[in-house]
Amino acid sequence: MEDPSPDHPPAEALERLIGELVDYFARSGSDVMRSRHRFFGWTITPNTEPDAPPTLHLFRCTTEDEQGNPCGAESPESEMFEVAQKWPFEHMKEVPEHTGYEQVLRRPWGMVRGDPV
Ligand SMILES: [Zn+2]
Repeated sequence: MEDPSPDHPPAEALERLIGELVDYFARSGSDVMRSRHRFFGWTITPNTEPDAPPTLHLFRCTTEDEQGNPCGAESPESEMFEVAQKWPFEHMKEVPEHTGYEQVLRRPWGMVRGDPV
């Protein structure tokens, strides 16, 4: 097991994780630019305009208590995935037995007429 110190996130581990995420999205067809949906002349597509709200990341604790209730504690939202990713280490300092987490991503989308390029 790697050192979970939040002050020294191993750069290689982060690079490996990001590589795995890219591979995962490529394999699963969930690449954001290919995930548009069209319906009656409208298309919903990720909003990549310069004035679009930022994409935000957070981590949520999914560890369950003895009754099966999830903890649900959440990191602050951050535009930087790597910043949000540090929060579980802080949470584990308070509750070392909480080892299950999920990443939550909030991305702006917009409806446009027709078929955007
Ligand atoms: Zn927790």
